Amino acid sequence: MASERANTPLGVLQSVFGYEVFRSHQADIIEDVMAGQDCFVLMPTGGGKSLCYQVPAILRSGTAIVVSPLIALMQDQVSALKANGVKAAYYNSTLDVQTADQVLMQLHTGQLDLLYVSPERLFNHTFLQQLQQLPIALFAIDEAHCVSQWGHDFRPEYRQIGQLRTFFPQVPFIALTATADEATRQDILQRLHLQQPKVHISSFDRPNIRYTVLEKRQPMKQLLRFLEARGEVQESGIVYCLSRKRVEEVASQLQAGGYNAQAYHAGLPGEVRHSVHQRFIRDEVDIVVATVAFGMGIDKPNVRFVVHYDLPKNIEGYYQETGRAGRDGLASEALLLYGAQDVVTARHFVENQPDEHQRRVEGFKLSSMVDFAESQTCRRRVLLNYFSEATDSDCGNCDICLNPPEFFDATVSAQKALSCVYRLNQGYGLRHVVEVLRGQDNERIRQLNHQALSTYGIGREHSAAEWDSILRQLIHLGYLLQDIQQYSVLRLTEKAGEVLKGQVCLQLAKPRNPIGKTTRPGG
Ligand code: ADP
Ligand code: ZN
Repeated sequence: MASERANTPLGVLQSVFGYEVFRSHQADIIEDVMAGQDCFVLMPTGGGKSLCYQVPAILRSGTAIVVSPLIALMQDQVSALKANGVKAAYYNSTLDVQTADQVLMQLHTGQLDLLYVSPERLFNHTFLQQLQQLPIALFAIDEAHCVSQWGHDFRPEYRQIGQLRTFFPQVPFIALTATADEATRQDILQRLHLQQPKVHISSFDRPNIRYTVLEKRQPMKQLLRFLEARGEVQESGIVYCLSRKRVEEVASQLQAGGYNAQAYHAGLPGEVRHSVHQRFIRDEVDIVVATVAFGMGIDKPNVRFVVHYDLPKNIEGYYQETGRAGRDGLASEALLLYGAQDVVTARHFVENQPDEHQRRVEGFKLSSMVDFAESQTCRRRVLLNYFSEATDSDCGNCDICLNPPEFFDATVSAQKALSCVYRLNQGYGLRHVVEVLRGQDNERIRQLNHQALSTYGIGREHSAAEWDSILRQLIHLGYLLQDIQQYSVLRLTEKAGEVLKGQVCLQLAKPRNPIGKTTRPGG
């Protein structure tokens, strides 16, 4: 078999993997690794990262060591390689002693082109020492963002990988990841001590995915309408929720609505999860309602939609999860239900992190996610910009491009809102402010005697949904802030004075979400 393989990268691609041509970047990356260069590869999931080290692994002499934290994926990769006649094995904690010995034996006798290793096993002292005695073709560090505390998936066991470079000064290193913003990227390069690395960054654009953000009002109704609007056909889709409880609720409501939906979260028994996964892949389950636990290894081409029922914690996660739609290149949708309350909850969570650095990182990432959801410019531009991929034109395939927001002169409304916050001694949350503006009559208002305020009922011209939108834009534009330490009460910022004194004319976007316009007052 080996003798039949051509000894060029393209030859290997064709004879071993059965593909005709390299995708953009693959050929360049492989050329660099073949030349012994260190490389940093940032390529979206599904882009074809694996071949970037597998091809050189076959061509270069010695064994390639692939470090990966994803034990389940190691198995898949190795089986796929073996099926193509490549000499590959993995070495991790799932192996029994006998098999582990066998793998080490193969390694020592030069019978392996690739060995996948978990970080724990790699840093076993004797294993590292032994490796130093062997011819190593290259090191591939998969999921390299795990090395960085700036990444969204930092793994302490990855920290030590930084030392590897010094143990193997002559061996090329290739670090690969699908998710890294600018800060994480710089951090990875530093931590891995890559030597004058060639940096390869692929486009993150997924033009066939249409991004839509809806203000979350009655999420279940909004979800059902979204599904109805997509038509009668049974389609594959994923609905992501933040908690297991929510997953269960949404799944059973979809089932009650006649949808072929199943729940998936880490609290379910392994067999159940496995079965849901398999049935989804085989198109026997249409919709999986899941926590982010559902993700690793979903290589299903025909996922037509991904819905985020709750706000993801960061853009990396959002991009990764929405990216599971439309792998086949056909039109697909990503819908995010964005609720102000979710932001409060998420902020609260971030603020309660014990580690200060972590708080800062996660706080920044959450703010970027919020900015994306609240932006009035092309979603794709915001998204790509986050990954440092500047684009100079709007995409034409997101909610903002397809249905640009209309603006209205909101100066008077903003003055009313801000003075209402002021009259409430800057001590109440958004919902209460709306109730006072709209002159709601309820027990709490009466208890607090807020019907006596001069701003009570001065805003009946707007619906509760409209006030909600106005207040949220005022927060986003920096006229109000939500004090997360203090039950999210609204406070005026210094800037609010400009509006109250009539020094600025304020244009705000009209609420975009037709669903919920008729919601009950204060709802
Ligand atoms: P990533 O690791 O970046 O998520 P993979 O390496 O798993 O992506 O590749 C994704 C899919 O694309 C795999 O099914 C792989 O076989 C396929 N693929 C990769 N490169 C090519 C190519 N040059 N031609 C055809 N298919 C490819
Ligand atoms: Zn757009």
